[in-house]
Amino acid sequence: MKISCEMASDLLPLYLEDSCSQDSKAALEEHLKTCVSCRAKLDRMRTSLTGELPLERPEPDLTAYAKKVRGHRLRLTALTLLSVLILSLVGAILFLTVQRMMRQSSPTVYNVEPGTVNLTAGSFRTTAEEIDQAVFYTNFQQIKVEVQGSGDDAGTVYLYNAENTDSFIQVLHIGLGKSDGTFTGLSSQWRYMIRCEGLDGAVLTVSEGRTAGFFENMRAVFQEIAEMFGREWDDAQVILIKRN
Ligand SMILES: [Zn+2]
Repeated sequence: MKISCEMASDLLPLYLEDSCSQDSKAALEEHLKTCVSCRAKLDRMRTSLTGELPLERPEPDLTAYAKKVRGHRLRLTALTLLSVLILSLVGAILFLTVQRMMRQSSPTVYNVEPGTVNLTAGSFRTTAEEIDQAVFYTNFQQIKVEVQGSGDDAGTVYLYNAENTDSFIQVLHIGLGKSDGTFTGLSSQWRYMIRCEGLDGAVLTVSEGRTAGFFENMRAVFQEIAEMFGREWDDAQVILIKRN
């Protein structure tokens, strides 16, 4: 009995299980003798059953892979966020620094009452003996005092609120190689007066201590940020005692 390849294909599994009839078995074996392709098919089926060639490839561990990818993504996201944060911070500091430099080089000069020295308009030179005659105004929150040439160059510079000269509000110690200091945290609302102790014969230059320098301004920006967080900038050069 001759059978077609299609029929042989149908019989192959049963043949392998040895569960087809004797007639079918005979017919198939006869077909296999002459048909190369069905023989090859039978061989393939045999090998896959006996496992000589591992048909089952190990399934890729998808959960582990997914975990890996997720971890990777998380790290990447954290890194991106961190970079963005750092870049924004650096950008903000640069922006504030440049803004401050511009304000420093061309400050707005407001009119003040006659008799008051407007330090925003320029610096003021006087002697240690005569400095208490002047009333100062600043809209820059600071007054810098520089001491030049004096036989007795050690001394103390006191800052007063012009409305209350009974007690000073800040003090600078000059001497031991230190020839200038800056009163900070001042307000344009108030007028200020300065008195000296010691420093006889010295010439004093009073200014707002403005500087257009990049690093000075960046330092000041950091200082402002530090003060915002309630920490005093540790400035070993200036000893300030605040009262009131
Ligand atoms: Zn065949």
